[in-house]
Amino acid sequence: MNSILLPEVGKKEHLLPVVPLRETVVFPHTEMGLSFGRQKSIAALESAWAKDKLICFVLQKDRRLDDPNPEQFTWFGTMCTVERILKTDREMNVIVKGVHRVKIESFEQFTPYFTAKVVEVPEEPKNDDEIKALVNHIVAQFRRAVNLGKSIDLLSVMNVMSYASPHELTDQVANSLDIRASEKQELLEEGDIKKRLDKINEFLSHEVKVLELGRKIASKTQDRLSKSNREAILREQLKSIEEELGDTPEGKEVEDYREKIRKAKMPQEVQEKAEKELKRLSTMSAYNPEASYVRTYLDWLCELPWTITDKVAVDIKKAQKILDEDHYGLEKVKERIIEYLAVHKLAGKMKGSILCFAGPPGTGKTSIGRSIARALQRKFVKMSLGGIRDEAEIRGHRRTYVGALPGRIIQSLKTAGTRNPVFMLDEIDKVGADFRGDPSAALLEALDPEQNHAFSDHYLEVPYDLSDVMFITTANILETIPPALRDRLEIIRFSGYTEEEKFHIGVRHLLTKQKEAHGLKDGQLEVSDAALHAIIQRYTRESGVRNLERELASLCRKAARKIVERKVERVVITEKNLSKFLGPEKFESLLLEKKDTIGMSTGLAVTEAGGEILFIEVALVPGKGKLLLTGQLGDVMKESCYAALSYVRSRAEKLGIDKNFLEKTDVHVHVPAGAVPKDGPSAGVAIVTALVSALTKVPVRRDLGMTGEITLRGRVLEIGGVKSKVLAAHRAGIKKVILPRSNKKDLVELTSKVRKELTFVFADQIDHVLKVALNNSEKGRKVSTDSSSKASQKKKELV
Ligand code: ADP
Repeated sequence: MNSILLPEVGKKEHLLPVVPLRETVVFPHTEMGLSFGRQKSIAALESAWAKDKLICFVLQKDRRLDDPNPEQFTWFGTMCTVERILKTDREMNVIVKGVHRVKIESFEQFTPYFTAKVVEVPEEPKNDDEIKALVNHIVAQFRRAVNLGKSIDLLSVMNVMSYASPHELTDQVANSLDIRASEKQELLEEGDIKKRLDKINEFLSHEVKVLELGRKIASKTQDRLSKSNREAILREQLKSIEEELGDTPEGKEVEDYREKIRKAKMPQEVQEKAEKELKRLSTMSAYNPEASYVRTYLDWLCELPWTITDKVAVDIKKAQKILDEDHYGLEKVKERIIEYLAVHKLAGKMKGSILCFAGPPGTGKTSIGRSIARALQRKFVKMSLGGIRDEAEIRGHRRTYVGALPGRIIQSLKTAGTRNPVFMLDEIDKVGADFRGDPSAALLEALDPEQNHAFSDHYLEVPYDLSDVMFITTANILETIPPALRDRLEIIRFSGYTEEEKFHIGVRHLLTKQKEAHGLKDGQLEVSDAALHAIIQRYTRESGVRNLERELASLCRKAARKIVERKVERVVITEKNLSKFLGPEKFESLLLEKKDTIGMSTGLAVTEAGGEILFIEVALVPGKGKLLLTGQLGDVMKESCYAALSYVRSRAEKLGIDKNFLEKTDVHVHVPAGAVPKDGPSAGVAIVTALVSALTKVPVRRDLGMTGEITLRGRVLEIGGVKSKVLAAHRAGIKKVILPRSNKKDLVELTSKVRKELTFVFADQIDHVLKVALNNSEKGRKVSTDSSSKASQKKKELV
């Protein structure tokens, strides 16, 4: 290669051996140790050492090349002096000192080593305030980096600190930076001192940041280590102190638990869990608050009846005897229960559908559940579901919650103490769902025989086998039970008792029970039959016998007081002195003394509390044909009213009503008690009857009760709840009941006594109903308009 030299004023030129370096940039103002193995490099160094010791180092662009040519060099390097040489067999170690930045002008020689003409790049002598500020900052940053543990030898630190010019500083710092060779080369080539200072500042700041981060991580790890070490040491110390003092409560406690776990006869999986927890407990200090949670958990695991069972043999005859002993009547219910038990005796396991006792309160649902348990010689537990909205109440809270406990099912089983009790879930129709989850889903899992062999309680964390539990649910109404649950239930209806049945229950069971409960001996209290009848008729009005039992309890209390106060030895209750004990009568007879009324009929309804009678009032007021509906009627009942009005209008002429009656009249339908919501289609016939009566001014017979849905063509359709409705009519003193003809079949559910005491009319057309209900013979007589009743304030649902 030919070199052309441009003569420049003040330009210092040199002809120097050139050595390419693989990953190193030598800066002026610095000293460095380098090792060389390539023959060309060694030859260049030897030549320099022999001559004026001057040499030029450049960066080879690709470090992988063993024998690069000048085009693969950076033509900007550093002129250095070789300070010392140490040669071994295979390599040459030298110490060099950077002198000046040089630019290569041209290469003069290529073998045995490269020589080139180089020009010194002059250093600008600039040193303004900005440069000074930058220099100060770089020094401070450098100091910080060293303090943070920058890996650098002491000599280099001293060199940096004793810089003589900004140039020297930049070179010293650049040399020490932990950056790539290409970045170092950039710094070398940067001629503008300010720019070079800026770049260095940037690199240095980054390095400081990385060092700081590194230190933070290191100190965190250190912290963690030292904390756990400290705890471990303290715990060990505590143990040794307790051992010295000779009392190690933990050791004994762990032993106790081990024994308990052994005795609890848990399934394998549960035992493993318990042992794991016990191991955890044994490593905890007695003062660790978590230890108490683990203890509570272990207590639960140990105290649950995992394998304890009561006898499972079912003696059908004995069961029948016990049911008969405990309960009067309820023949159908008992029959169903015995059948159920028989099937299970044959099938071997209590699998299959779940019993659901449905009926008004006080009809013996709970007490028959108890009898079943007695008949099967099993434990009985009862859990009320009324108002449960939180899934966790059924399934428990996870142990991560403070104060977590298992759900109520597991709690009840612990109370029972056996794994196969008769388990009564009361009021399944009152379970609600909200944002806390759907309890009915959890219930389903507990009840469903397909899933309940591994019921998962959130607290227990291990499955519990519920498949041997006999679940019985109870409900007042079926409509509100979530459908998924209702599907699995085998419904057994408790419709309520007649007066006669109540009388027998009162004499045989309630009175005896209450006397015993109040400590009254035989002969100390006597209640005459007439008095008992009077209590049933005038102090209670209910489908069940709960209030009757309450009134009898009240009699017993008062009698007990008299006897204790030594006023008498024996108390006899008769119909006459009854009011002295129980106060004035609570219910007058609803209907018997009342007169027939225009525009008012008596309907029959079924409510949560059983059957009830219901009055429908119609008033005609001057107006423009509006239909006013009051008494909190539901949508279905409102529609019944519209249908009734349309029917009457379409048949006006035939019924002897002015066909334009709506032109100057508003029709008002009211159903007392006004504050209680009512709904259902079965009041249809009663509404038409009251309406026709109001329009024709013919009174409705008062001793008549009626129920039935109507169509616009005047047909009377089938309804539900016949037994409850008829019993309510019977209780209220009604003598005649109009039912849809299609409900005739339901009369078999009634006792023969009720059937004898009531007259039934079966209608399939509303005309038939009107013929029976309207008292034409007494047309125009003065009639009562009183319609109030002390009907119960329960929701009335007409089904
Ligand atoms: P429910 O659970 O249906 O609300 P309970 O089972 O609590 O009603 O019954 C209320 C009371 O009436 C109990 O003391 C029960 O023993 C009694 N009882 C109900 N029906 C009968 C019956 N057929 N024979 C004897 N006692 C009865």
